[in-house]
Amino acid sequence: MNVYDATRMADLLGREGYTETGDEADADLVILNTCHIREKAAEKIYSELGKLALEKRAREAEGRDMKIVVAGCVAQAEGEEVLKRQRAVDLVVGPQSYHRLPELLKQAKQGRRLTDTEFDVEDKFESLPQPSRAQIRARGVSAFVTVQEGCDKFCSFCVVPYTRGAEVSRPVPDIVAETRRLVDAGVREITLIGQNVNAYRGPDDDGREWSLARLLAHLAGMEGIDRLRYTTSHPVDMAQDLIDAHASLEKLMPYVHLPVQSGSDRVLKAMNRKHKAADYLDIVRRLRKARPDVAMSSDFIVGFPGETDADFEATMALVREVGFASSFSFKYSPRPGTPGAERTDQIDEEIKRVRLAALQALLEEQRQAFNSATVGRTVDVLFEKPGRHEGQIAGKTPYMQAVHVSGPADMIGGVAPVAIVAAGSNSLAGRLLGKGEEAKA
Ligand code: SAM
Ligand code: SF4
Repeated sequence: MNVYDATRMADLLGREGYTETGDEADADLVILNTCHIREKAAEKIYSELGKLALEKRAREAEGRDMKIVVAGCVAQAEGEEVLKRQRAVDLVVGPQSYHRLPELLKQAKQGRRLTDTEFDVEDKFESLPQPSRAQIRARGVSAFVTVQEGCDKFCSFCVVPYTRGAEVSRPVPDIVAETRRLVDAGVREITLIGQNVNAYRGPDDDGREWSLARLLAHLAGMEGIDRLRYTTSHPVDMAQDLIDAHASLEKLMPYVHLPVQSGSDRVLKAMNRKHKAADYLDIVRRLRKARPDVAMSSDFIVGFPGETDADFEATMALVREVGFASSFSFKYSPRPGTPGAERTDQIDEEIKRVRLAALQALLEEQRQAFNSATVGRTVDVLFEKPGRHEGQIAGKTPYMQAVHVSGPADMIGGVAPVAIVAAGSNSLAGRLLGKGEEAKA
């Protein structure tokens, strides 16, 4: 979502005459789009700001200006505190306020240091300009579209409900228009995103609410779209119509990111996840029934307060039972203002470290096994960019695996069958099929 937000901020500032640069030393304006989810991510911002402050001072000595903006969830959570902690910051802007950036920057240029972390009723998306065709093309053939923001779940470890606010779904016609614009400019893969994307309940023109499954079915009918994905889902919102969509919609990719966090019912309850391990396993079973080749991916937290060795073993058992194609796993990080942080039975850092290492070893083994199992198969690849070596092109399988093949650059933006010949640690090597072979595949 931060990647999506950053592109929207760039679209907005493009209208004000700014262009993007990859080089901080060249920038008149630096925006740090921050993440508050774990302490490490939030603290990184301050070390980054320290470096930028030095750069800014050096500029000022030469009579040039550089504005520094802190955006995203650290901005939302810490507000004024950021201005106090780092004098070089000019502007602090929360994720629901970035459509006001041009106005805020005008004030910052007059020497005011400001904070805007309002959650207001005004529709942020409506006030944002759409990217030009050239901007869309430059960003590649795969794009995100935010369909839902915020969260009402209040998992006891998580800051999202406080930093992103309550669940809001965008109206269907807005999503369709944004998607059409992307597809008309050459985008082939759309990933619908939201903190709780499968809780989507957006109104259509008649005010009727659509589910995510209905939205996906509608978008699947749009000419030019080859692939649809959605992320991130919560198990309690995994409705049967969404599971069925994996059977009926060919364009819906057989890859589901469905965070479980823990395999222990006791820990899941303490986390306020509102489901049990067996419910998760049942969803996976139904998904596999609908689409036998579906690949599963998840998020895990180890060392939530009170987690025992037996609880951790239950997580390992769940992982063994499901078999994940990929995953994200983290040590629990107590976040200020969340119920988990108040608990007195915090787990020792060393225990968290050992549990995370064991879990990651198992997940990595599963990821490698999944990739190795693709060798010898023929899979469709959406080519996204030139490969690392001359004459190579790179893309993704339906299961999100990176693949490179020898092939012409004019295939970028298209889908073609590829025979997978080898699995490396982070990507697969393949061979484009010839005309006759293609028919067999
Ligand atoms: N909404 C999604 C869900 O419910 O699964 C996840 C959103 S969160 C941005 C992404 C992941 O960060 C979570 O799934 C969780 O594994 C991890 N996370 C969130 N808070 C955390 C914390 N306090 N410590 C460690 N990991 C955390
Ligand atoms: Fe955070 Fe996801 Fe739980 Fe919402 S559902 S509180 S975003 S982990």
